[in-house]
Amino acid sequence: MKKISILGSTGSIGRHALDIINGDEIEVAALACGRNIELLSEQIEHFNPKLVSVEREEDAKPLSTKYSSIDVLWGEDGLNAVAECDADLLLNGIMGMVGLEPTYKAILSGKDIALANKETLVAGGKIIMEAARNQGIEILPVDSEHSAIYQCLNTYRDPNTSENVIRRIILTASGGPFRGYSIEQLQNVTLQDALNHPNWSMGKKITVDSATMMNKGLEVIEAKWLFDVDLYKIDVHVHPQSIIHSAVEFIDGSIIAQMGMPDMRVPISYAINYGERKNIISVSDGNSELGAKSMKFTDLFEIGNLTLEKPDMSTFKCLAFAYAALEEGKSYPAVLNSANEALVDLFLKEKIKFIDIQNNLESFLEKHQPVELKSIDEIKEMDREVKEKIRRGLW
Ligand code: MG
Repeated sequence: MKKISILGSTGSIGRHALDIINGDEIEVAALACGRNIELLSEQIEHFNPKLVSVEREEDAKPLSTKYSSIDVLWGEDGLNAVAECDADLLLNGIMGMVGLEPTYKAILSGKDIALANKETLVAGGKIIMEAARNQGIEILPVDSEHSAIYQCLNTYRDPNTSENVIRRIILTASGGPFRGYSIEQLQNVTLQDALNHPNWSMGKKITVDSATMMNKGLEVIEAKWLFDVDLYKIDVHVHPQSIIHSAVEFIDGSIIAQMGMPDMRVPISYAINYGERKNIISVSDGNSELGAKSMKFTDLFEIGNLTLEKPDMSTFKCLAFAYAALEEGKSYPAVLNSANEALVDLFLKEKIKFIDIQNNLESFLEKHQPVELKSIDEIKEMDREVKEKIRRGLW
């Protein structure tokens, strides 16, 4: 039986994954979460992992008393232990830069990675992809768009030479809650408005990133690393219905798209089952006590129209920043990512306005002196510096 460990087990990705994991086919070896101890306890009782990790020591102590037969760890060391534990596959569904090092450690310990943590590739793409190649492990994308691209490429006979036959990657974006807004209209939007995503239910940070379009920018960078394509071949299309999850155009003019109702269980299942298609509905009914919602098949008549628009990069500048950061290279993508994370955090605490995320990012990036980041430690150090500067408003 295949063994899986999960980072971010009580978050959106983790909950959706555990919802479709059938204990007969996949064994849950280890779980890591933040502070939702109540849900973690339910998960422990249902899946019997051998190791769990939580964010804080004060939450770890009572858990290890309650579940004396399992190892309970905490903090960064705990995350790394879960990443390195005895398993075949790590599902990294944690949010933010904190997900980078565990991915790297899991790769070095020979595990395949089902990757939902964007920051891993945005900040550490070169190092991570090199390590994956050296270790001969697979990186299976979980993000719905990258899973779609991966599924489209799997329709092609020889994936090893697929780079030559890709004319273009069509990366779709819902456009978020502020699609069609002008800069003036963006001035007065509230936190509540930004958290109100039309199609996907996700964590807060990624929901704000969807509203600024930074999420799509990070996904452009992620796609570049995952599929090894030139930047100019990645083309963002705004598609408000979120039915086409992305598409690939091949050199013969054929476009292959992957479609379906927006449901994260589909890409998660495709990743953790290594591209094998499963009946998700029957599995998710089995674990319904953990809050599973039933899955819907797609009714194209009900949807009626699928529309596509050009993204407005002069209003939603974060997307343009991401292309520029990737083009400039060096430390730019990592710094873009860290600065954005810190600014979104300030916005979530209502210390800055929505529009200040992109305005501050622009001025921060303009002043950045790029350096080559050669190791995970150097990326982590840069991340600390950038976040500290943003928190203190010093740049
Ligand atoms: Mg996505």
